[in-house]
Amino acid sequence: MQGKNCPNYINCQLVHKEEVLPDKKKQGQYIRDYCLAGEEAWSQCKRYLTKKKLNFCPDFVLPDSPWSPDEILDIFEEREMNDFNEQ
Ligand code: SF4
Repeated sequence: MQGKNCPNYINCQLVHKEEVLPDKKKQGQYIRDYCLAGEEAWSQCKRYLTKKKLNFCPDFVLPDSPWSPDEILDIFEEREMNDFNEQ
């Protein structure tokens, strides 16, 4: 099925959790340019691609983040490790 809206829209933290992107203007742009812009757009979203590959997407990832899902996992793990070491 070719959906116009991203299948993750209902649960995506970028859309629903203010802390992910406090800049409302930027959030609105992403939603317009990716989430609601048709499959060609949302299927390129790094949050979409990361969730598809890893089954989750860390909050720091934005639709146009430069990293691949594997790099995102590395960054996520590194941050988790740093947080753990700081405790
Ligand atoms: S396009 Fe990206 S940011 Fe938008 S709902 Fe889908 S996964 Fe989330």
